[in-house]
Order: sequence, then structure tokens, then C-alpha cells
Amino acid sequence: MTTRITGELTAVQVDAALYAVHFWAGDTRNHRYLRAQLEDGERDTFYPDCTLAAFVIPGRWAFRSELSEELGENRDRARDCRPCFRARR
Ligand SMILES: [Zn+2]
Repeated sequence: MTTRITGELTAVQVDAALYAVHFWAGDTRNHRYLRAQLEDGERDTFYPDCTLAAFVIPGRWAFRSELSEELGENRDRARDCRPCFRARR
């Protein structure tokens, strides 16, 4: 079923289903966070997609209180974290 679903959605739609974009007060950038992390009520810290790249940046772990509401397509893209939004998987 995964193949069929992927075939019916654009890459942007798949991204939106998997990730939520939040402004992080820690570095005043917009990062992408897996929705599965954010929906886990037991979690206190969240790591953005850029920490999953070639190198890990522990300093980018964010507390829930430091994240904004989910941002939409009308966000300030100048604040987008480049490693987060460059990766298309
Ligand atoms: Zn990032």
C-alpha cells in the first residue's frame, strides 16, 4: 500500500504528512520535525530533521515550550533551516 499512496501524493504532500514545520526559539530558524515525535506526549525534547543529516548537532534538541505553533506555507521562508528543507527523501 505504501507504494500506491506515494504514487498518488506529490513530494510536498508526503512531506506535509510526515513533517511539521515549527519555528524554534533556540536558533530563531524554522525546522522540520517528524509528526511522530511531536505527537508523543511523553517526549520533552524534539530533534529537527537537520540533526539526522551527515552529522548530529545535539545543541539543536528543542523543548516543546521553545517551539512555535505549526507553520504553514505562508511562513517566513528566509528563516527556513537549509539542511532541514534541502533533504528530500
Ligand atoms: Zn533544521
